[in-house]
This record gives sequence, C-alpha cells and structure tokens, in this order.
Amino acid sequence: MKKRTAKQATKKTKYIFVVGGVMSGVGKGVASSSIAKILQARGLSVTALKIDPYINVDAGTMNPTEHGEVFVLKDGLETDQDMGNYERFLGTDMPAINYMTTGSVYQSVIRKERNLEYGGHNVEVVPHIPLEVISRIKHAAKKSAADVALIEIGGTVGEYQNILFLEAVRMLKTEQPEDVAVVMVSYLPVPGSIGEMKTKPTQTAARLLNSAGVFADFILARAPVPVDKKRKEKIARFCNVLPENVISAPDVDSIYDVPLRYEAEKLSSKICDLLSLRCRTTSDLSRWKRFVTSSKTGKDTVKIAVVGKYFNSGDFVLSDVYISVLEAIKYSSYKLGLKPEISYVSSLDFEDKKQLKRLKEFDGILVPGGFGTTGITGKLNVIEYARKNKIPYFGICYGMQLAVLEYAKNKLRMKDVSTAEINPDAKHLVIDIMPEQKEKIAQSDMGGTMRLGAYPAHLSTGSIVKSAYHQAEITERHRHRYEVNPAYIMKLQEGGLVFSGQSPDRRLMEAVELPREEHPFFVGVQFHPELQARPLDPHPLFTAFVKAAYEAK
Ligand code: GLN
Repeated sequence: MKKRTAKQATKKTKYIFVVGGVMSGVGKGVASSSIAKILQARGLSVTALKIDPYINVDAGTMNPTEHGEVFVLKDGLETDQDMGNYERFLGTDMPAINYMTTGSVYQSVIRKERNLEYGGHNVEVVPHIPLEVISRIKHAAKKSAADVALIEIGGTVGEYQNILFLEAVRMLKTEQPEDVAVVMVSYLPVPGSIGEMKTKPTQTAARLLNSAGVFADFILARAPVPVDKKRKEKIARFCNVLPENVISAPDVDSIYDVPLRYEAEKLSSKICDLLSLRCRTTSDLSRWKRFVTSSKTGKDTVKIAVVGKYFNSGDFVLSDVYISVLEAIKYSSYKLGLKPEISYVSSLDFEDKKQLKRLKEFDGILVPGGFGTTGITGKLNVIEYARKNKIPYFGICYGMQLAVLEYAKNKLRMKDVSTAEINPDAKHLVIDIMPEQKEKIAQSDMGGTMRLGAYPAHLSTGSIVKSAYHQAEITERHRHRYEVNPAYIMKLQEGGLVFSGQSPDRRLMEAVELPREEHPFFVGVQFHPELQARPLDPHPLFTAFVKAAYEAK
C-alpha cells in the first residue's frame, strides 16, 4: 500500500448547508457565494452546489420570468442563476454534478431502481431520496477535491418541497456531526409603521427548521439596516445559536461588498473554528477589494440599453433574467474606469418606429438571448436603428440571429425572409434549425435538446472579435437551436456582412460583424460570452463593446 502524506490523511471534506428562513429573494445565493469566497480567501479549496426544489429536471424548461436567468454550465447543464454567482465569486467553472433538482434526483433513483441497483429492496422516498442527495453532494465534493462544499437549498424552510433536502442535511449531520454546519439566511423586517426591527419571523423560521431535525449554527440576519447587539442576543436565545454566530447582513449598495461585510464579523474564522478547518491564518481578499473599489470610483458614465422582452412580472420589472449580461457589462466598465448606467428597455416598446428616437440617449445597445416571436419586431427595429445610426451594437445569440435577419431584410432587401423560429414557411430562412435538432423537436422532446455548453470557435484575422480576444482560438458556452443557414452565407458576405467566427469545421457561424470602416462596433455572437465574465476577469468582448460605446459617445 502507498504511504499517505499527512495532508491526505487529514483531509476530510466539510459541508456547509445554506437554507432560507422567512422569505425568498433576500440574497441566499449571494450569501452562499460570499461564504464560499471568504473561505476560498483563507486558502481552502471550495466548491458550491445548488439544490432546486422544482420537479423540472433542469432549468432549461423554466420560463425566465418565473425563474430568472438560465445559467449554462461549461458541460452544458442548464441551471439556476445562482450557479453563475458561484462561478463569478469563486472564479471557477462549476461541473454539472453541482446542480440538482427534485426532478433530477427522482430521475436517478428511478433509473437505479429499473437497473436493479437497489438489490430487490423496497425503494422509498425516505431514505432513498435523501441518500441520493447525499451521494451527489459527496461526489461533487470529491470531483472538485474540495475542502469545503457549500450547498444552497432553494426555497425556504417549512415548504413541503424542501423537506427531503433538509432530511438529507439531518442524515449527513447525524453520520458526520463534526463535518456539517448549517447557515440559515433569515430576514428581519423593520415595518414602517413601528420603525423597529422584528425578530419573530426569524424565531418562527428557526423553529420550522428545528422541526425537521436540523439546527442552525449560524444565522445570517438580512435586514435593511445592521442588526444591533440586543437583537442578536434575542435571536441567539430563541433560535439556539451563539450570539457571536448571529451575523449582521444589512442591505448593501453592491453584492460584491457582502464578502467584506462577513469578514468584518470574522465569519470565516468562526466557520473554520466550528468545523476544525485547517486554513491560512490570514485572509487574502486584496484583488477582490481592488475590484470593489473600482466599482465605486468610475467617474465618466457609459449608458447601455439592454433590449429584452422578459422584464415584466405583473407591475414589477425583473432584471434577474439577464443577470449575467448585466454583471458582464459592469465588470468591463469598471475595468475601463467607467461608471455603467444600464437601462432595461422592453423591445415591445419599439414596435412603433416613432419610439426609436428614445434610443438616442444611449452610447451602446445590446440585444441579449431570447426565444419565440414576442417582441421580435421591436428588436429588429432597434437593430436597424443601431446599424444605421452607428450606435455600437452587441447582439448575443438571438441578438446575433436577428442582426443577420435585419441585414438580409433591410440592407439586402430580401423578400419573404425570416428565421425558422418565427416563420418556418418563409421562402428564405437565413436562420434555420440545425439538422440534428429537427428530429428531436419532431418527437416533441424539447428538454436539453439545444446546442448546449462550451464549444471551440476560430476567429478570423483582422476582425473586431479577434482583436478583442487577442487570440484566434476561443471556447464559449452556447444555448441555441437555430443557426445561420449555410445556404445564405455567400449572399450575406457579398452583401457586406463579415462572418468573423466559425466552428472549427467551419460549418457553424459563431460571430458576425460589420467592417470597422462602416460601423464603430456592430458585432453579434452565437454564443453567450456573459456566462464566462468574472469580476476579477472581465470578458474581452464586453470590454470591447463598452469601450466602443464610450468612445462613440
Ligand atoms: N432562440 C434562438 C435559438 O434557439 C436563440 C437562443 C438564445 O438566444 N439563447 O437558436
């Protein structure tokens, strides 16, 4: 037998579960990412998992207005936007095993049962579902060689749908009590009518958590303002936690301040002590701090319009749908020393061309990914306006496909031209379905059938995209069903459009642009560069776009 080194012998993964109390939407994803970040800054290897309580097997079939952005991992899994937060905060790619839903867990258990993997035993919701959850968590931790696996459980305690996940926490904690910590992210309202911070909802949430056999080690007290000593003591007494483990987490200007806030309360040391984690005595957040400073010091503004259609939810405007795009614009702006002013505008507003002059105030226009026919006329009008008025334009996925369509229609004056997604019967389908997708759609088997995940592309010499990346070979993540139709490439090229990025076999068009002499920046990409933009490593294409927008001001 090989001799083990001291490090191997002592290395044992620790598990930190993050659950929500009181209500959703108080930043559990950011809290999880920030805890992961401060532990990483202590020299630990950290991975992060998200558990979504939905029956959907992945996030690909969820409407973004209900669920937010679909974040595509490198290996192609369509996941929750929190996975994007983890990648951005930690600066690492997360593998597919780090995301699970109720649907995917049941699917595995049923597949194993069909495969006789339970050896003839009765397969039951408990323990087999929680055991599957635990085995996935352990597998993910092992795959990432993690000292710490942070697992965020979607929803809030007390909901039926996350009971089985809490059961997994309980079982793992019973099995390995020294290796498991539980953090409850709670909310402390300050009702306007009384002006006092109330702890009761948090007490109730703690009790609900306890009734599932799980006890919080830390309570992150989200609130509009810092939590005072008196309330910390009250929460500690009623919720069974140490007063020093009630961490004040007030609203902050930027989510990137959160790790620094936690460190101000020495959270990483408290976690390391509780779990006997061997880590560096000092925390290295210096690059992170520089980034946070750059996010606050930009003087000149750059105004970007993001033209989408998934913004409305009743009377409220949702920006979460395009969160990675928004963050990517911010990182590049900060890098350039600029202050971004990002406006979300609904493409539906521009079906009437008279509205287009509203776009004059913007330095750059971005049309992000999208699906279906709603809002398309408006998007095409916006693209035409950006092209003709030389406003820097960046089209992502659908934003590229529509730029090609707009060009064919308005510049080349092609009649009866469309994309198969809008009008499959049009005579000229400049954007068409990929052959390998046709069959799947015919079987109405839509889930997970797009071209998903990271693929390489080659960029042409002399192009805007190549000069942005400073390299010819790139790898970017995809999520689409349709493609530029090879039958029209010659015609479009002869008409002045430049296909500046292609798949290695040259079959698929990955990037399109107009020559610099004709337009300061008119670029469309079939992939989703926003998915790889990171605070400490802004995406070169976004940087090129923001720079062009600023210079065109
Ligand atoms: N709807 C287009 C397609 O499926 C674009 C997808 C996207 O923008 N993500 O190809």
